[in-house]
Amino acid sequence: MVSQKRPRPARLLVLSGARVVTLDPDRRVLDADVVVSEGRIAEIRPRRSPTRRAVARGGELDCAGLILLPGLVQAHIHLCQTLFRGFADDLSLEDWLARRIWPFEAAHTPESVYWSAMLGAAELLLGGTTAILDMETVRHTHAAFQALREIGLRATVGKCLMDAPTNPPGLRESTDQALQEAMDLCARWHGAEGGRLRYCFAPRFAPSCTGPLLRAVSDAAERAGAMIHTHAAETPVELELVKRATGRDEIAYLDSVGIAGPRAALAHCVWVDGDTVRELARAGTNVVHCPSSNLKLGSGVAPIPEMLAAGCRVALGADGAPCNNRLDGFEEMRLAALIQKPRLGPDALPAAAVLELATLGGARALGLEREIGSIEVGKRADLVALDLSGPHGQPADAEIASRLVYAARAADVRHVLVDGRVVVRGGRLLTADVSEVREKANAAARRLIRGVLG
Ligand SMILES: [Zn+2]
Repeated sequence: MVSQKRPRPARLLVLSGARVVTLDPDRRVLDADVVVSEGRIAEIRPRRSPTRRAVARGGELDCAGLILLPGLVQAHIHLCQTLFRGFADDLSLEDWLARRIWPFEAAHTPESVYWSAMLGAAELLLGGTTAILDMETVRHTHAAFQALREIGLRATVGKCLMDAPTNPPGLRESTDQALQEAMDLCARWHGAEGGRLRYCFAPRFAPSCTGPLLRAVSDAAERAGAMIHTHAAETPVELELVKRATGRDEIAYLDSVGIAGPRAALAHCVWVDGDTVRELARAGTNVVHCPSSNLKLGSGVAPIPEMLAAGCRVALGADGAPCNNRLDGFEEMRLAALIQKPRLGPDALPAAAVLELATLGGARALGLEREIGSIEVGKRADLVALDLSGPHGQPADAEIASRLVYAARAADVRHVLVDGRVVVRGGRLLTADVSEVREKANAAARRLIRGVLG
């Protein structure tokens, strides 16, 4: 007789005792336990004390008194710029790029890209961001992927594409070279680590790329099932450049080369008129709102309430460390709500709407709305447990979206899971040694900045 081996029960992790902000279609807030198995949310069940057997099969993460929410998604980040934080302040976008960011990016080595990504990803995870859409620099994107593989953040990452003859020589590539490396990175990393890492095609912005490259990128993204991520309509200067070169409005030009629709995520979209907003909504293009960056570079205030009223898909992002200077999803939520109010009144963009942008909106901008963005059975277990027991989180009976958007801070994050793996426990990062990251990132920044600024 053949003995039949019983299948091993899946390892379970029970997150017990939290108030769960689900962001499900009914927007339920539940006092419930969340059971995680094989990277996914297996069950959301009435709170009960864990059985000894359940604990033996995996474990319990005590979340009593905490608020459990879907991990924040930031759909516009430049991990390669984390080492430039504090070295490019108080400049207009054009000077900021030409005098600081482009020379710094051109000076990057694989090692500095790696530590820049580790530093940024550590900050993001400790602050409750579990997924990002990331534009790297022109070279060494492989090193950023290696850092992300180790540290455990969910990331869709693209090498920056810059093939136009007007680009600085340190970053300019030929069209073929740019496209070939992008395709090679896509083949290597798109879907890696069980789908946690994905590739996106990332033209820097319309003026930095030739028309043939943009068209080729759109085709390649379609074939690979990958996102396209770029900047658009950030300043009037940029709009004018595109108008002069192509005779068209920038968003319409991007549409004409195939960069529009649910596969595209456009950072900023500050300078858009009513017709363009309607066009973005009709196409289903993702807009990524970066309020801190738009304020710090003096770019303006994107008409987000108007976009939402028109039916646009909107996500949030911190952009890069040198134009923010934090990578804090809670800060972006708070600012996103506040900056509209002087213009449109205090009821513009309420807290509950902003919370959706930072979770469900981000998931859509990564093309992952079926996988992340809410706490629902079957979705990936990307979760954040927040401790709002401090004075700034009281009174506890206030509306939960208000507490999360207006009062919560990155420092309130206690536990973080990505793909069911506990990456932050008790406010401590488990997947990297933060003091080593700090030391190595500082050394890399010192070499790089000194090399450029002297
Ligand atoms: Zn950016």
